[in-house]
Amino acid sequence: MVIQAGTFMIIYNVAQLLKDAVGGHRDYDFAEPSLELSEDMTATYVSGHVRLTRLNKSVLAKGKVVASVTLQCRRCLEDYTTEIATDYEDRYYPTVDVSSGHPVEFGDEAANGEEEVDALRIDANHGLDLGELLRQVIILTLPIMPLCREDCPGLPPPIGVQVHLSNAADTPDEDEDGDEDDDAPIDSRLAALAHLLEVDEASQSVPFSKN
Ligand SMILES: [Zn+2]
Repeated sequence: MVIQAGTFMIIYNVAQLLKDAVGGHRDYDFAEPSLELSEDMTATYVSGHVRLTRLNKSVLAKGKVVASVTLQCRRCLEDYTTEIATDYEDRYYPTVDVSSGHPVEFGDEAANGEEEVDALRIDANHGLDLGELLRQVIILTLPIMPLCREDCPGLPPPIGVQVHLSNAADTPDEDEDGDEDDDAPIDSRLAALAHLLEVDEASQSVPFSKN
């Protein structure tokens, strides 16, 4: 296994495996501090297992991976870290024939229905970059709607609640000790929204339903 400095890559040299009979396989464990998923997202504590199996025209990479990924909650916009764990399985296709050294005609194999156009490739030095597959697998495992927790209340609260609170503050009973509340941080937002509502009410030129 060769680990290249900089961006995370786990590359297995599969030259010997490609010379094995179909069904030959190698097993590896991996554990890396980080894996860049995209320009602004990185997985950390990436570990797992892979079995590389020689197939007729490809190498099957199959195993498990666990990793931590920091995401931004869609409701409260705070960063949070989530753990992902998933099985994966995909085929890598040689670009060079390991025996002859000649380039493998990718198009012919695709015509036989053996592989997809965007298939993973083994490089010309017979290096199989598992990081490429792990990156795809981890990204696919991430939630479409990231939430720091199921019942995250998020910010800001629904407008209806704020209208109710601002009206409550106008009642005579609240006015006596209302000054202290106005200085509280959470009320400053409500005050700002209440002010916006007052502006709406004042500008009668715009048709506006208060219901
Ligand atoms: Zn949240």
